[in-house]
Amino acid sequence: MQATVTILGSGTSTGVPVIGCSCATCTSSDSRDKRLRSSVLLQTADGQSLVIDTGPDFRMQMLNAGVTHLTEVLYTHTHADHCHGFDDLRAFYFASRQPVICHVATPHCADFRARFSYAFEETGYLGTKPQVVLAPFERAPFAIGGLQVDPDFVPHGHTQTAVFRIGRFAYATDFKVFPPELIARWRGKIDTMVASAIRHGQHPTHSCVEETLALFDALAVKRGYLTHIAHEMRHAVDEVKLPSHVRLAYDGLEIPVEL
Ligand SMILES: [Zn+2]
Ligand SMILES: [Zn+2]
Ligand SMILES: [Zn+2]
Repeated sequence: MQATVTILGSGTSTGVPVIGCSCATCTSSDSRDKRLRSSVLLQTADGQSLVIDTGPDFRMQMLNAGVTHLTEVLYTHTHADHCHGFDDLRAFYFASRQPVICHVATPHCADFRARFSYAFEETGYLGTKPQVVLAPFERAPFAIGGLQVDPDFVPHGHTQTAVFRIGRFAYATDFKVFPPELIARWRGKIDTMVASAIRHGQHPTHSCVEETLALFDALAVKRGYLTHIAHEMRHAVDEVKLPSHVRLAYDGLEIPVEL
């Protein structure tokens, strides 16, 4: 099935520019150096769509991409830069009167409910709550409409992040390493992968450029895009250093994929 992946945000947790920073990336006039928090939109040729993560820039991302209808969100993990735009899911209920299904990994559900308790519990909150349905998932394939989602979990500091393969497309952010069993399971099954690479050089909880390039090779990915990028990387300077089948993602980039 033909689909388009739109990079809604390609930035690390701070976004780029970083508040108060005057480095060459943060003051760059290149629009590709303006990075909202990481998220993607997947739209299939037959009209299905889903978003992965609703970070703090979610509202602007929906406006920028012209999304007027949304019923499915996949969450990688509960760090603020991946879910704190949750409240703006309200807009999609106003428009369609359909709740948004939030697919949250079972081990993340308690934290997700705690962060947004006003939406799930009777708290006395008098405003309009997001109308959502929490749909827990485990390490087992599940369907969203006609899409088969194959999730797995990878280490990310004190927590585990969910990564997703949807047909021959995969999205993985906020991981340090892929366990060998997952590499064996996904190897050769991915044509296009968007994966995080925070900067050149080691980071304690995030994969760096060198590690993500090695991961693309280990998985035999045909086209790779790096995302969740910090201000240490400037698009025009750093993309040219990459192998030709790997590009730096940037906000607004549309990637045609065959699922
Ligand atoms: Zn993150
Ligand atoms: Zn900076
Ligand atoms: Zn994280």
